[in-house]
Amino acid sequence: MPGSTKKTVIITGASRGIGAAAARRFADAGAAVLLAARSTAPIEALAAEITAAGGIAHAQACDVSRWEDVSALVERVQDTWGQLDVLVNYAGVIEPIGSLATSDPGQWGNSIDINLKGTYYGMRAALPVMARQGSGVIVNVSSGAAQGPNEGWSAYCSGKAGAFMLTRAGQLEAPTGVRVIGLSPGTVATDMQVKIRASGINRVSRLLPSDHIPAAWAAEAILWLTTDDAAEFAGTDVSLRDPNIRTRAGIGGASGGG
Ligand code: NAP
Repeated sequence: MPGSTKKTVIITGASRGIGAAAARRFADAGAAVLLAARSTAPIEALAAEITAAGGIAHAQACDVSRWEDVSALVERVQDTWGQLDVLVNYAGVIEPIGSLATSDPGQWGNSIDINLKGTYYGMRAALPVMARQGSGVIVNVSSGAAQGPNEGWSAYCSGKAGAFMLTRAGQLEAPTGVRVIGLSPGTVATDMQVKIRASGINRVSRLLPSDHIPAAWAAEAILWLTTDDAAEFAGTDVSLRDPNIRTRAGIGGASGGG
């Protein structure tokens, strides 16, 4: 398991699910964390929880589909802590779920704005700062949906496939000392899987809650990916379905995760 860190970290999608678990894990490891999501109450409560436990955390409202919001996160970290060591690009939405042929073009585009353009905005804001520092790690959320289609998820699969390409393209251009890595966590027990199960639309919706891994495992893997031990995976999507990766990341068991 990775040890203590004194990193400064931005986590998008920190109001619940994997992002919130990652915020707790990074703070527990000694990092200063800036928590970002659209809903302010949960990230403020989580920042207070971390602070009360002796950690360092701030919360900032952010819609990752808005460039101004995302660039403001990076400015806040620089102003507050003087450097940006890690960006965890974890904000994401599963909606719209449904047939491409009958999809609402506005909702479809909004998914791309969040899942793909939001990832790009984070990289666009962070990379110049990390280039000046000569160090930094960006972890992009990916998914099995980045590489394999599922019916009813045309927007989600397209956005995740695009985000995977951003990981690859970003690493090709990454300055010395900077890494971009994707994480495909498998299926994780969060609100997103509750929505997927309720849809009944494809094979993922038929998985049982017990098939999913806990969010804490994904959080542990994200922390590991930011360490030098995972440097060899820069520019790739690391899959938590791989038992060897689970062992490397120090997370429990080779089963679970659909
Ligand atoms: P979740 O429980 O639904 O949480 C999603 C997070 O993203 C929330 O914090 C949400 O906060 C935030 N978010 C959504 N839209 C946003 C926006 N426009 N701007 C800022 N924040 C936004 O989902 P999760 O399961 O933890 O998923 C986290 C990431 O992992 C997603 O990108 C998802 O695609 C990916 N993933 C999940 C699974 C899984 O099985 N759960 C599998 C593969 C990949 P607000 O609503 O407050 O903004």
